[in-house]
Amino acid sequence: MDLLDTLTAKGLRRETPTREEALAVLATTDDELLDVVAAAGRVRRQWFGRRVKLNYLVNLKSGLCPEDCSYCSQRLGSTAGILKYTWLKPEQAAEAAAAGLAGGAKRVCLVASGRGPTDRDIERVADTIAAIKDANEAVEVCACLGLLSGNQAERLKAAGADAYNHNLNTSEATYGDITSTHTYADRVDTVNKAHGAGLSACSGLIAGMGESDEDLVDVVFALRELDSDSVPVNFLIPFEGTPLAKEWNLTPQRCLRILAMVRFVCPDVEVRIAGGREVHLRSMQPLGLHIANSIFLGDYLTSEGQAGQADLDMIADAGFEVEGAGQVTLPAHRSEVAAGGCGTGGGCGSAGGCGTGADTGCGGHGESASAGGCGPCGSHEPAAAVAEAAAEGTEAAEAELPEEVRSELVKVRRRGAGTELAPNA
Ligand code: SF4
Repeated sequence: MDLLDTLTAKGLRRETPTREEALAVLATTDDELLDVVAAAGRVRRQWFGRRVKLNYLVNLKSGLCPEDCSYCSQRLGSTAGILKYTWLKPEQAAEAAAAGLAGGAKRVCLVASGRGPTDRDIERVADTIAAIKDANEAVEVCACLGLLSGNQAERLKAAGADAYNHNLNTSEATYGDITSTHTYADRVDTVNKAHGAGLSACSGLIAGMGESDEDLVDVVFALRELDSDSVPVNFLIPFEGTPLAKEWNLTPQRCLRILAMVRFVCPDVEVRIAGGREVHLRSMQPLGLHIANSIFLGDYLTSEGQAGQADLDMIADAGFEVEGAGQVTLPAHRSEVAAGGCGTGGGCGSAGGCGTGADTGCGGHGESASAGGCGPCGSHEPAAAVAEAAAEGTEAAEAELPEEVRSELVKVRRRGAGTELAPNA
């Protein structure tokens, strides 16, 4: 297929596809799906081999948020029966982190609900980072605390944080439909602050909130522009008790197409399958590993993932290997750029989320920001072939029926941080 040959070649050269090519990936048919996965897999193996990076979430503060992100179980007015607790003590957080590290995680993501941290909160998180790094110097720590102000990013960097997550979540055009208490520009600003402080940027999206293909392409191109080092791709977990509880409109095939599109647009950055992996990819999860090079181990912020051992078994069974602490995640051309970017020229860089929203690792507020230099952003190629594929695909996409409600797949987290029970790792 000309489209996939073109996208593979561009990905291997770190060249940005056109918007039309990105849209055409989302419009491919089920008959073409394995070819799409194979093409994205070639790009993934070029930059990340067969390694899978494991990340581990520690929810430092759960629920009780004054913001109104529609996708988030911790939002203002949420009636989801999630755990609610205030700041974990540093030693409690370090204990939770240790479980994830023992399970094979390389990065610990420290997440707190809320609009953004106070200066006192930054001190708490600094103490927590110290407690984690005292026990394990090699661990990467990513903070995800919402909107940053003043010199908070610099203070986190000085405290030993390696990265900051803050997701863009969706396109600028639709951002106001999902949240009214802060803006898309606020999120971009925080990613840029993190980046400017020398923190590696982690910023991604949430798919499945009723957005169009154009919205998805817009947010991924925006992430590239921001030059995030890691791009978490969340699939909405429609929590009962939130405004998006009935948005069950993803299929495993759709999720794979979205992951492939992100890989083609951001070929040499860490693409992470984040929240919703088990709920939406289900038995197709191993195919996702051929595209993404990173996942969360164990549980998410407010929902439970599959058993940590099942994650490890899946990686081994699919012929991949867990990335070790001594291995550098990003390709050399990116890791040399202090805090990285989406690896390509323009940079993906999105502003994750507090990982809460989609209940991924970091969907809510946002995660990190980096400044990589990916390849040239937005080239313009095979327009005719692409337009044809897009047209074909549109029909196929329209033929897809919305999935039935599968709320039995959403299991509220009742173990780990904030409970007396052992974490899943
Ligand atoms: S995503 Fe973050 S800021 Fe938004 S409601 Fe959830 S916890 Fe609050």
